[in-house]
Amino acid sequence: MNKKVAVALALVTGLIAISVPISISLFLAWKQSFNEQMATVASLAQDVLRRSEESTDQTFIIFKALASAHSADPCSAENIRLMGKLDLASEQVQAVGYVRDNRLLCSSYGHHDTPIGPPTYVTRYGTAIRTSVEFPVLPGERFLVSTDVASGYTVAIHPSLPLNVFVGESHLSIGVVSDYTRSVILHRGVFEPEWIELAGGRADARFSDGGSLVTVKHSPKYGFSAYAAVSTASVNAGLRRFALVLVPIGVLAGIVLAWAVVYLARQQLALPAVLKVALKRNEFFLEYQPVVDLSTGRWVGAEALIRWRRPNGELIRPDVFIAVAEEINLIQRVTERVMAIIADDVQDLLAHHPGFHIAINLSAADLQSEQTLVCLDTLRGRISAGPGNLIVEVTERVFMKAEAVRSVLDEIRGRGIEIAIDDFGTGYSSLSYLESVKLDYLKIDKCFVETLEKEAATSQVVPHIIEMAKSLNLKMVAEGVETEVQAQYLRQRGVQFAQGWLFARPMPFAEFVRTLRKAEEESSASAA
Ligand code: C2E
Ligand code: CA
Ligand code: CA
Repeated sequence: MNKKVAVALALVTGLIAISVPISISLFLAWKQSFNEQMATVASLAQDVLRRSEESTDQTFIIFKALASAHSADPCSAENIRLMGKLDLASEQVQAVGYVRDNRLLCSSYGHHDTPIGPPTYVTRYGTAIRTSVEFPVLPGERFLVSTDVASGYTVAIHPSLPLNVFVGESHLSIGVVSDYTRSVILHRGVFEPEWIELAGGRADARFSDGGSLVTVKHSPKYGFSAYAAVSTASVNAGLRRFALVLVPIGVLAGIVLAWAVVYLARQQLALPAVLKVALKRNEFFLEYQPVVDLSTGRWVGAEALIRWRRPNGELIRPDVFIAVAEEINLIQRVTERVMAIIADDVQDLLAHHPGFHIAINLSAADLQSEQTLVCLDTLRGRISAGPGNLIVEVTERVFMKAEAVRSVLDEIRGRGIEIAIDDFGTGYSSLSYLESVKLDYLKIDKCFVETLEKEAATSQVVPHIIEMAKSLNLKMVAEGVETEVQAQYLRQRGVQFAQGWLFARPMPFAEFVRTLRKAEEESSASAA
């Protein structure tokens, strides 16, 4: 991939990493704020409806009380006293009176003769409603006046009274709309006539008209609906408060993510170039992991594992860079380095430990080149390796080109160097090579050893691998042995060798030799 394209791609990924979580959080915050406001509006509309129905109930109670007094003269002193009592008893009622011919003749305040104009409409209950009546005693105030058409008894309510409990919610619009006129009888704040159209007579209509969140509730008892509305601006205000906290966090997280993406991408891009430099500067070293004889516990050999420490101290795992080295055809130079380091490290170890072996990992490319034989010969000479002192580990994958690697493998084996098949069972390759290539060891991969602890289905595989190795006459090394349970299982089934953290982790050669000497001193001391 082109370097510029890759960096651009990383940047775009970073930008997406910034914007996606923020957008999602903002959307969720908006939805939450929306739902909260909608719930507030709905419960307010319910309250307004309840209070309006209560005041209508009270009006009817008053009509009934006056009717059942059967006063011959509605404006008698006695009847006016009753009006006063009923007025006082009802908190929402401002005045109780008697109307005839569009004139208020008397009320709980005494005798009058006040024209109040014709009714705005008459309900199906026979109540004449005047939505806006001004009394001379209270100039400037308009009242909602309900008159029982049959008796003339009348109740006046201040249009803001049923709504007064909601003074704290000043940013909300609330009100009551008559079914008869489709206009407001009681209200505070704005009212849009189209809300009633949008509600369409539903018992409980909740919607947004673009500018406001609205709930309209129709009274199941009377001919009106209560509504409550809040401007969507207040949803956005809630969102702004949230965004003020969230956006900086999101931006920060996004920047970190973007940085990580760019950093990783750059590292990945730079790896081939850096790898070349690393070879020149000898940034590689080896660690040695003991191979243990499972029946005696003694160390019988070691696998050389490559390590790369960059000048900045960073350690790069072989899993990462070996694959890159293979891809860019640098792996043979890496293998050459490994052999050179082994020669420097091991020196005369084999003179003291004639049966000991050193295992080296080879890649497919190594097995397609005669140069590998030259390097192995040099190594053999430098450490005075005899038959069995060197093992090369090759993975199944190299046998995908079985013909191409066979001659080098045969040459290697002809030199008394043994061959181990590494990561056995993980390569998804045909096992037919087992018939045609001569091998010495089979390494049971740690992914199978792992399963010996658990009752996983793959643990069924290990007995088969062991049987196969036995029938092919291969020695076995189990990799990644971490527990005594695993070691016990393998030992009992005749696996001779093992590697793993149960015994030792890979370690620098100096430490390896120190530990080996100590173990030998101890065993010779106990033998003496
Ligand atoms: P591998 O050949 O399968 O090496 C065994 C890996 O398992 C090593 O990882 C080793 O440190 C790790 N290991 C050993 N015992 C345990 C254990 O008990 N538990 C666990 N979890 N892991 C354990 P490492 O050193 O990171 O090497 C990784 C791979 O890199 C090797 O896998 C090998 O394929 C490759 N490699 C290492 N050195 C070289 C080399 O010099 N040349 C080539 N071509 N490949 C190498
Ligand atoms: Ca190996
Ligand atoms: Ca392995």
